[in-house]
Amino acid sequence: MKKCKQCGESLSEAMFRPYYPRGKGIRKSKVGCNTICISCERINNSITKAWKADPKTVKDLEVLAQAIEYYDTLIANGLEPIGAFAASRRGSVPARQRGTEYTQAKMAESIKKLTVNVLNIDDELDKFVDMKFTEHPSVYDAMYETIRTKCLNNEGQVVAQYKEKLGIAADKQMNYEETWN
Ligand SMILES: [Zn+2]
Repeated sequence: MKKCKQCGESLSEAMFRPYYPRGKGIRKSKVGCNTICISCERINNSITKAWKADPKTVKDLEVLAQAIEYYDTLIANGLEPIGAFAASRRGSVPARQRGTEYTQAKMAESIKKLTVNVLNIDDELDKFVDMKFTEHPSVYDAMYETIRTKCLNNEGQVVAQYKEKLGIAADKQMNYEETWN
């Protein structure tokens, strides 16, 4: 288990992209993992894209408005989101607001709002369904749970448009677990 510097979640190492040293003469050997998880990386990539877009679409502006809330909430909770846009927010958020306005619940809500907006859940589901499973089932179980969480509405129910694909993903995960030895 490894804690993501950005979202603060303790996750399996498979949820972090491996890090390889740069430079000549160094053989391609894994030296560790990124400090933030793959989901956070994807969020940051989407935010950076919106930030750099010129001209910006309505959607870009929407993403950026939510990104400000998202990063500010993380920073106020003592977390360290990375990337240029996150860095630009760092100086403007008083960390002592922690625990008052910026509660854990608010953080979860803010992350969810943003992920629903910037990440294409359909793409994630497709990727999961097409992915070749090779590792321990718990790795895919964790991935499945992460995706499933994103498919829920505020009442905790799966949004209708994702039901079918999520079902396929669940079957795949379950079959793999049953045949694993
Ligand atoms: Zn993370």
